[in-house]
Amino acid sequence: MIHRTHEYFMQIALEEAKKGDMPYGAVLVKDSEVILKGYNTAQRDSDVSAHGELNVLRQFTQARKSYSLEILKGYTLYTTCEPCPMCAAACVWSGVSEIVFGASTKDLIAIGSEQIDLTCEAIVQRGFQEIKVVGGILAQDCLALFEPGFT
Ligand SMILES: [Zn+2]
Repeated sequence: MIHRTHEYFMQIALEEAKKGDMPYGAVLVKDSEVILKGYNTAQRDSDVSAHGELNVLRQFTQARKSYSLEILKGYTLYTTCEPCPMCAAACVWSGVSEIVFGASTKDLIAIGSEQIDLTCEAIVQRGFQEIKVVGGILAQDCLALFEPGFT
C-alpha cells in the first residue's frame, strides 16, 4: 500500500471546495485511495443539509444501496473545515474511522463565518464509535478560500 500524507488528500479536498457554493470540500479515503469526493451544494440543491461531508456520505451509502452503523469502518473522511455538529453526527452514524480536517470551527468564527460553536471532537466523544479526529491540516489554505474573490 502506498503511503500518502494527510496533506496530499487535503489538497484534493481543497480542489473540491473550489467547486462548491461555499468553499467546503470533502474526500473519502480508504487504504490511501480516494473513494469519493464532494463539496457544498446547499444553494444549488436547495438543501440545508448539503454540506460537503454529508454529500460524500450520502453518495457513498446510496451507491452501495446499503446502510449500517459500521458502513464507513476503515475509511477516513478529509474535509477542508471542521465538521459542523450535523456532519460530525453523521460521521458517528456511519462509523467512519477517522476525520481529518483543515480549518477549525474557531478559525471560521474568527473570520466572521456563521458557525455552531461546538467542536467535532465534542460530538464524537458523546457518540458510541471509535473515531480518531485530526485537525489543522493545511488550515491556512482552507481558510484562504473564504477570502473575497479567491475562488
Ligand atoms: Zn456540516
